Amino acid sequence: MKVLLVFAHPERRSLNGALRDAAVDELVSLGHEVRVSDLYADGWKAQVDRLDFPQLGAAERLQPSRASKQAYAADALTADVKAEHEKLRWADTLLLQFPLWWFTMPAILKGWVDRVYSYGFAYGVGEHNDTRWGDRYGEGVFAGKRAMLIVTTGGWQEHYSARGINGPIDDLLFPINHGILHYPGYDVLPPFVAYKVDRMDEAAFAATARALRERMRALATTPPIPYRKQNGGDYFIPSMELRPALGGRGAKGFALHVRE
Ligand code: FAD
Repeated sequence: MKVLLVFAHPERRSLNGALRDAAVDELVSLGHEVRVSDLYADGWKAQVDRLDFPQLGAAERLQPSRASKQAYAADALTADVKAEHEKLRWADTLLLQFPLWWFTMPAILKGWVDRVYSYGFAYGVGEHNDTRWGDRYGEGVFAGKRAMLIVTTGGWQEHYSARGINGPIDDLLFPINHGILHYPGYDVLPPFVAYKVDRMDEAAFAATARALRERMRALATTPPIPYRKQNGGDYFIPSMELRPALGGRGAKGFALHVRE
């Protein structure tokens, strides 16, 4: 396998850094090729702005989607973004690793998505007609590839359970798993989540690293989350609402978009 790990933690000697080492070590020992984008170490620019579109005239109004489309089509994106495109095309598996910060990914990783997911590359692709609404949600540039999150949290597993006060972890991660990974085509594996990590002792670290290594060994065989395909007939087009007969009695919200 060819694995790209995008790492978003400011401290290499952190727990996340140690878990990254365990994941990479396990993958390499199995003979897989691994590349790492270490966003803080690389000084990744997190915000989308005019500097991303060198072709844009000084007097022109910046419309981010439009500028992204034009720059991608003209091969005029900045070198850092093009380098990430090359890595994403190369990889058959994408891992995003981060500590949960305010219930989501650190801003630098969101900025990686904002800048690297160019119009015409990760979105705005495919035909729109009566039976298709573009290549999204299981179709698109990353169709046939796998992706998975590696997340650490301060909160306890119970805090993220179905009735936990933080909200269910699958709901919190839905915008990333479904909206960022499945949208451009990835098959998304259930996340690896290490809970209650802030006062982790050596024994807990060893158990967590062992569990992560196990998930690395199973990367190719773990069944993905069974998200519904957009163009498979489950949704009305163009409203993109799930057909009333689907989803199960009483189901609502994010859970509707996972096949029973
Ligand atoms: P570190 O601080 O590096 O380490 C954590 C523990 O692991 C320490 O006890 C350390 O000794 C131990 N450890 C590290 N490396 C090793 C090793 N090699 N061997 C043995 N032990 C080791 N949490 C939530 O649940 N929800 C939130 O919304 C949330 N928001 C946050 C927002 C911000 C801005 C911040 C700073 C934190 C937030 N947190 C939240 C907590 C956060 O998720 C955790 O602090 C983070 O996941 C810990 O990961 P780390 O890599 O930074 O750990």
